[in-house]
Amino acid sequence: MLTSQSAKFSELQSRIHGQVLTEGDPAWDASRQAFNLTYDQRPAAVVRVASADDVAETVRYAAQRGLRVAPQGTGHNAGPIQGLENSLLLRTDALQEVRIDVAARRARAGGGARWAAVADPASEAGLAPLSGSSRTVGVAGYSLGGGVGWLGRKYGLQANALTAVELVTADGELRRIDRDNETDLFWALRGGGGNFGVVTALEFELFAVPELYAGALFFPYERSSEVLHAWHEYVSAGLPDELTTVGRVVQIPPLPEIPEPIRGKSFAILQAAYLGNQADGAELIRPLAELGPELNTFDMVPPSALGSLAMDPDAPLPSASSSRLVSDVSSAGIDALLATAGPGSGSSLANVELRSLGGALARRTPGQGACASIDGDYLLFAVGGVFSPEQYGAVLGQAAAVSEALAPWDSGVRYPNFEERKVDARSFFDADTWRLLRALRAEWDPGSLFLANHQIKDS
Ligand SMILES: Cc1cc2nc3c(=O)[nH]c(=O)nc-3n(C[C@H](O)[C@H](O)[C@H](O)COP(=O)(O)OP(=O)(O)OC[C@H]3O[C@@H](n4cnc5c(N)ncnc54)[C@H](O)[C@@H]3O)c2cc1C
Repeated sequence: MLTSQSAKFSELQSRIHGQVLTEGDPAWDASRQAFNLTYDQRPAAVVRVASADDVAETVRYAAQRGLRVAPQGTGHNAGPIQGLENSLLLRTDALQEVRIDVAARRARAGGGARWAAVADPASEAGLAPLSGSSRTVGVAGYSLGGGVGWLGRKYGLQANALTAVELVTADGELRRIDRDNETDLFWALRGGGGNFGVVTALEFELFAVPELYAGALFFPYERSSEVLHAWHEYVSAGLPDELTTVGRVVQIPPLPEIPEPIRGKSFAILQAAYLGNQADGAELIRPLAELGPELNTFDMVPPSALGSLAMDPDAPLPSASSSRLVSDVSSAGIDALLATAGPGSGSSLANVELRSLGGALARRTPGQGACASIDGDYLLFAVGGVFSPEQYGAVLGQAAAVSEALAPWDSGVRYPNFEERKVDARSFFDADTWRLLRALRAEWDPGSLFLANHQIKDS
């Protein structure tokens, strides 16, 4: 029997092959779940599309009924979305097509594909995408928001590796957008997020990476200050674009799903990925390895291993985070970070990291998209687990305090993919880029049909 809620959407259900779910459906809770379990997404209905045609039907239906459409793949960045109650949460999970063209070094991924589905077969062919630290993040959201990964200092942002985007725009039309077709929209999509339509597939460059030298150095947590200062001096002296490093302090929660050797333990960790051979890589990281870690995991690995290097969680978890792009962080900045997140600070945050940026991530070249480059030497991300609703405010406060401590070194812009709470989207762009993005939003989505995590709009 149809509930009154599902009866309301029976016409949409009759128009698509996928599923329309409303409150009361057995699969309702699973279908609206975000990656961060602290978010309680309550849309008017969830539409699990089965095809690009379903997407087009859903967009037309929503436009006719005065509803908005919130495209979502994995829900890794569900936090900033506001206004779901009048929206269809359009889940793209079923759009899983992945094709690797080895000769052309190109990939095609469906709008709901996750990075593992691309990185694993690409890796077998000696190729790598510009994916990030997690295998379970969606290709679409990551690419539309910029995309900072282990190979970024050498090859730039994933957004700028896109060669074509297929999407359903607000008029319900499925379009193929690339350098020669709707050039302005192609520019906007590469950094402007999910404001311009529902992406059904993306095509992008892959890079020749048969193997690379990568790993982690684990140090006792108590050595955090010595280790992070040494790493900061090492990075500040200048490194080749082929080498990307991350410095972090971690306090691993005592969860049963975490392997016993590290469960409940705390460390200072230095990680790196080097596009080159073992001898050169070992020589490059020698100053870090000579600090004398408890554990050194560096080795030659296939590029698919980059998806596990950061040890990001694969399964949904409740968490609270903050982030900031920072420049010219002096050794006082490292002290400020550790005063809020290091030994003796009282922090319970699971992970506080600085990713080194620069190289191709910082370079502007003709033909790039709206997210052309990243202004900042380091990307800070601070996150803690929230294991009861009462903890949320305290954990968020700790994460915000780390970010606040680095405010004197703020680069002046924010990075959308790492903003897990609502912020003014103009803070991601320079004034000219923002103006053009708003104009293109008004042109392609005049009624603000699409509800993105980060909204490009006037106010
Ligand atoms: C564990 C973890 C690790 C991460 N590592 C990195 C990293 O290394 N580098 C990095 O840059 N970022 C990283 N991120 C951030 C990540 O890139 C963002 O959260 C990104 O928005 C996730 O995209 P998604 O499609 O998985 O998430 P979703 O929450 O599904 O999507 C986020 C937004 O993207 C848009 N979107 C998604 N799919 C579509 C579509 N088909 N059509 C139109 N719009 C769409 C929508 O506006 C949506 O609200 C990480 C996040 C987590 C949780």
